[in-house]
Amino acid sequence: MESNGRKHETGLVKLKCSVQNYDWGRIGYDSRVARLFERNCGCQIDEKKHYAEFWMGTHVSGPSFIQGIDDLSLKSWIQQNPKVLGDVVVDKWGHDLPFLLKVLSVGRSLSIQAHPDKELAGFLHKLQPNVYKDANHKPEMALALTEFEALCGFISSEELDVVLETVPEIKEAVSNASADQNLTVDKHNGEVKEEGVLRSIFTQLMSVDREVISKALSQLINRLNRESETRQLTSKEQLVLKLEKQYPNDVGVLAALLLNHVKLEPGDGLYIAANEPHAYLIGECIECMAASDNVVRAGLTPKYIDVKTLCSMLTYKQGLPEVLKGTPINQYVRRYTPPFEEFEVDRCVLDQGASVVFPGLPGPSVFVIISGEGTMQTSSSEDRVSEGATLFAPAGAEVRVSTDSELQLYRAGVNSKVLLNSLT
Ligand SMILES: [Zn+2]
Repeated sequence: MESNGRKHETGLVKLKCSVQNYDWGRIGYDSRVARLFERNCGCQIDEKKHYAEFWMGTHVSGPSFIQGIDDLSLKSWIQQNPKVLGDVVVDKWGHDLPFLLKVLSVGRSLSIQAHPDKELAGFLHKLQPNVYKDANHKPEMALALTEFEALCGFISSEELDVVLETVPEIKEAVSNASADQNLTVDKHNGEVKEEGVLRSIFTQLMSVDREVISKALSQLINRLNRESETRQLTSKEQLVLKLEKQYPNDVGVLAALLLNHVKLEPGDGLYIAANEPHAYLIGECIECMAASDNVVRAGLTPKYIDVKTLCSMLTYKQGLPEVLKGTPINQYVRRYTPPFEEFEVDRCVLDQGASVVFPGLPGPSVFVIISGEGTMQTSSSEDRVSEGATLFAPAGAEVRVSTDSELQLYRAGVNSKVLLNSLT
């Protein structure tokens, strides 16, 4: 054990990871999560089960374990060998990994949700510890592995005007009187006015009775079905029809009209700051986040919706989100850096016969092989790796990756801007 610990302070450590079988996940071998999981731990896949998320990290709800050492979690191992995190990380976040890396296989839409900032998370956790399980914020970033669709942030004021004009069912549901009233109250200040309208419509929509929502939805769906015979529906309208089939009578179907519908190509990324509404709709992605599982839901879900918390926490920022393309680090690696301290993600696509070096950083990294096979080397370890392999790299480890096939891997680490700033 002692020598094991010493070796691992510089070498790579293979991880055995967990999955989540949420019912929005893809089913059986259709799910990349299931295929990665099978290869990662040699577990049998249940072909009828949903495989939604593959988790790589130390979060209690889906911990990773050290391969080859029975029942030793990555969390306990880090606590026994805190040096593997590097001083900067230990000083800032203590003896734990500050980020959680995931692969998601989305078969049908996830709930519309937002994640609290640190202050609100602490408050919610104190108030309802069984709903809000930790006191941390959860900024997140998704990188598309396939074509990937999401709802993210509120639409612009211009688009909101169009929605209110062309979707009378929304106005009806929130009652014309109060929506118009807000328009006049806030008229003297352009920006405040629009945000006021959006906030008021969203809050009222989320708060009206279920019957009102049911009625508005059935009117909307009937109308769209009728109109689809004489005109091409917009992509947002098609989305509404699709979501209503997945979540009949759900307020989220109407709320979706107020959010941006974003379509990502493989390699595109999206980050989601605290208190921004979003929902992943379909596709597969890499996701990285601060180590937390705090979610406040807004619809497209049979689960608990905390309307009051949700409506008061949102920023009501409007307009399209930024789509990240990554910054090239070298010929094979692009880095995606969100405006959060806890993490960054590298996407590496190696040609057959190529090799690349990930220089040592003063913080820990987690690598996952998405496809192909090859070798990963440090000064004190060498591992054959293939699809599903997940490895922890301690602070300071320089990692050389070479491949005889084509290889795609991702590396998550603490935001290197934070790591490097702390050094100067
Ligand atoms: Zn989220």
